[in-house]
Amino acid sequence: MKQHYDLLVIGAGSGGLAAAQRAAEHGATVVIIEMKTIGGTCVNVGCVPKKLTWYAGETTSFFTHAKDYGFQAKSPVLSFKKLVEHRQHYLKHLNKKYHQRLQKDKITYLQGDASFIDPHTVKVANQLYTAKHIIIATGCSPNPPTVEGGEYAIDSDGFFALKSLPKSMAIIGGGYIAMEFSSILNKLGVDVHLVIRDDKPLKQFDSLISTALLDLIKLKKINLHKHQDVKKITRNANKKLTLHCSTKKITHMDSVLFAIGRHPCTQALNLKAAGVKLNKDNYIPTDKWENTNIPHIYAIGDVTGKKLQTPVAVAAGRKLSSRLFGGEKRAFLDYENIPTTIFTHPPAASVGLTEEQAVTKYGNQNLMVYEAKFASLYYAFSKVKIFSYIKLITIKKSQKVIGCHFVDNHADEIIQGFAVAIKMGATKKDFDNTVGIHPTSAEELLTLKNSSRQSKKPV
Ligand code: FAD
Repeated sequence: MKQHYDLLVIGAGSGGLAAAQRAAEHGATVVIIEMKTIGGTCVNVGCVPKKLTWYAGETTSFFTHAKDYGFQAKSPVLSFKKLVEHRQHYLKHLNKKYHQRLQKDKITYLQGDASFIDPHTVKVANQLYTAKHIIIATGCSPNPPTVEGGEYAIDSDGFFALKSLPKSMAIIGGGYIAMEFSSILNKLGVDVHLVIRDDKPLKQFDSLISTALLDLIKLKKINLHKHQDVKKITRNANKKLTLHCSTKKITHMDSVLFAIGRHPCTQALNLKAAGVKLNKDNYIPTDKWENTNIPHIYAIGDVTGKKLQTPVAVAAGRKLSSRLFGGEKRAFLDYENIPTTIFTHPPAASVGLTEEQAVTKYGNQNLMVYEAKFASLYYAFSKVKIFSYIKLITIKKSQKVIGCHFVDNHADEIIQGFAVAIKMGATKKDFDNTVGIHPTSAEELLTLKNSSRQSKKPV
């Protein structure tokens, strides 16, 4: 017999859980289906374990600078095993809390793979479920390496399964995940080799961020291998790995990690039976209301390929359920000015347009760009200073701030408040009229006066 619900959600990750909970708050009967672990990517193999490991890296910075501040103790030695134990314990606690929340909200949780039988029916472990509305929130998975010897390598999921720290690791990829893992492992004492296809990483971010992070890579002695494609991986009798790249070999690696993008989890859903269309990259295209091409089927989060971030999936899920079950007929997520952070050491944060996007949209003659590079007071006693970088992009005539890019020890926290101001349409004048908090890095964003320049055409 089929069981019927008001809402059926496929995928209990950030987006699916948020949508299910919001619908239940509005009195809907809800079933949510998960094939792996409740919480999805963010909680189990993404943001949360990544940030916890990032904090471990950050802690080593305090030991490094403790000497500058007069502390004489030796730097403590990391037990990676303990770090992993504590991290896993915390994640289990989060999984448990999610289950408790579902019980409290009277949401039915099913463990298993969901696939469509027809547009209204979904099968899980040979049982059929129907629903008035169906939300697909199945996220993305790491792209596997397709080169010979790829079986010796791990991906981002494998990073979180590491039980011990390798002495050396090659990381393939120029995106934010490759940059974050390189920074974290470097901080934890691993000899990191970062292999990228182009001349610089993070091409989709503002040039200030890729420049700043290239400076950091140099300073921190991360081995950067530019213009390299990995062709093959071989393993010798001592289990050391060799990467055979376009024009060089990288030898004696203990571990190799591929961070070469992610693909949407749409294959197992049997979307043909539901009539849901995919785009050429297998993402589910949606309109601004998160509707797919089938009227009662919606998609949210990473599987739509719109903006692959947890708070985006959460906000899209909540807005959608408020629209479907809460009477908020006009509720939709505005995808403009969504802030983001790359968790390197220091972090790099952004909101709004990159300079390259701004030039394309407004023309360089209509922009005014303000930049600064400074060393925070924290490094006052340090021989080696780590610089902070700021770029503010404004429309020349109205002075409206349309992009803000910031690399600083606290950029991840600072950018959130500036994102509110930018979303509200703040101008450079509003920034100038705001009194800073001294001495902080954040105040530098309010005093960008003498460094202004008209935007150059990006190369
Ligand atoms: P997911 O959280 O991936 O959830 C989808 C769920 O659907 C999964 O649990 C999956 O098992 C399940 N599923 C798939 N197919 C089926 C099926 N057929 N039947 C049943 N269940 C199914 N974002 C940030 O905002 N900040 C960060 O710092 C950050 N760091 C990241 C670090 C890493 C290493 C990675 C990989 C990602 C990171 N992200 C970060 C991205 C973030 O994790 C995702 O944007 C977010 O998890 C997307 O949520 P979602 O609900 O769309 O998908």
